[in-house]
Amino acid sequence: MCRLCSPATPRALCPGRPRFLSAPSELGAGAAAAQAATTKITAAPLPELSGEKGTRILIKGGVVMSVDDAVGNFPKGDVLIEGAKIVEVAANIEATDAHVIDASGKIVMPGFIDTHHHQFETGLRSSLADAIVVNDGKPENARNYYETMLLNFSQHYRPQDVYINELYGGLAQLDAGVTTVMDVSQIHHSAEHSDAAIEGLRDAGRRGVFGYFEGWWEGKEHPGGARRIREQFFSSDDSLLTMVMGGEIYIEGYEEMWRIGRELDLQIALHVVTTFGMTPTFDELAKKGVFGPDNIFIHMTGMTDDAWKAAADAGAHVSLSVPIEMHMRHGEPPIQKAIDLGMSVSLSSDVECTMSADFFTQMRGLITLQRMLANERALSGDENHPALMRSADAIRHATIEGAKGLRLDNKTGSLTPGKDADIILLDAEAINVAPLNNAPGAVVTLMDRSNVDTVMVAGKIRKWQGQLLGHDMGKLRRELEESRDYIFEKAGVEQDLFA
Ligand SMILES: [Zn+2]
Repeated sequence: MCRLCSPATPRALCPGRPRFLSAPSELGAGAAAAQAATTKITAAPLPELSGEKGTRILIKGGVVMSVDDAVGNFPKGDVLIEGAKIVEVAANIEATDAHVIDASGKIVMPGFIDTHHHQFETGLRSSLADAIVVNDGKPENARNYYETMLLNFSQHYRPQDVYINELYGGLAQLDAGVTTVMDVSQIHHSAEHSDAAIEGLRDAGRRGVFGYFEGWWEGKEHPGGARRIREQFFSSDDSLLTMVMGGEIYIEGYEEMWRIGRELDLQIALHVVTTFGMTPTFDELAKKGVFGPDNIFIHMTGMTDDAWKAAADAGAHVSLSVPIEMHMRHGEPPIQKAIDLGMSVSLSSDVECTMSADFFTQMRGLITLQRMLANERALSGDENHPALMRSADAIRHATIEGAKGLRLDNKTGSLTPGKDADIILLDAEAINVAPLNNAPGAVVTLMDRSNVDTVMVAGKIRKWQGQLLGHDMGKLRRELEESRDYIFEKAGVEQDLFA
């Protein structure tokens, strides 16, 4: 018996058993007959069957945190899945025809949702660990994000570099329980680059929003290529992949990007960062009344009160990359501002060249900064200091608010019957967590990637008992390293582990 099965799980259904049908003689004739009467016997292990039409899976006896007030939470509860969908969430579900996953000792919750991640930079991880976002003229900041990453490194990518970076970055986040991403791929130098980005997203097997941001080469297909891409890759509503249009206002011709996005009924996402000198342009757009509920504003650092009000009134969404904003001089993360205006706020990892893309880091960055600022006001005698953020709030920002921001809340973001089964099982008996005393608190304040035991996207098991499935990670790592070596060489940047 494998460690996810309960003593009641029939041996033939144990995913850890060899991949062949157990002979009746092996089971004992009586046991086999009883089992045939109550359970479905299948030839393949559970991860392979999962997500398929007709496959029913019962996640049994976990600490269920649904992130849906109408469904509620269960100290000990079950989640029933059929095919891609969640069918039922309750304290105790009987489903004798379902494959059982024993979730005792696990927290069962929706997968995390990252609303802004530049996955094409995965091979350049930590290469700009100490960098700020734009050049401030000081010699120590000569190697900064804008000039080194966007104006140098990114110019040398070939389509195969885009593909392996996208795929590896996607799998790495899947391993950490992030089941949905908006990939902000500013690498659309040609149609082949765009296609490679989409293929990398797709092959990772998770829910992905393809952010069609800028390209830089002469003769590039961007932004008009949005029409071809929408038609070729995003015409079905059933796909795990959807599309968002990039509309960066620091790029000449951004008006056309916004126009095409709205023509194609795509959301329009953009970085809004004071460090890029955007405050006056953003103010102007606010006055023109062009903001809409289709806007996703990333960072929103250093904007005026009037522009904030216009964004809130329009129903725009805000994506915050709290650790990155603090680290790279984007400006103070406007957590309180967005909360006070009642806006929907999600979290995003941004760039792994400078900070981890795991969501435990994101949630801890969010909650500690919000509480630090509120606590300072309390200490200074301010009776009206903001309410302190709670762990359950941080989890909402990391899940359902991200789903709302990407218009995917009808499919993901909570454990709600009818939604797709984007579910993670987190080990609450691990050395860094046990004994469990507070479920949201344990996830937000104690856990890390090592606690992510099982990950499911639309019912399909992608990580199982701590192991990512379906990819030769050693081979992919070598391909990523080769791509990294090529890009560093072309960019004329020396590889120096202690630079
Ligand atoms: Zn970004």
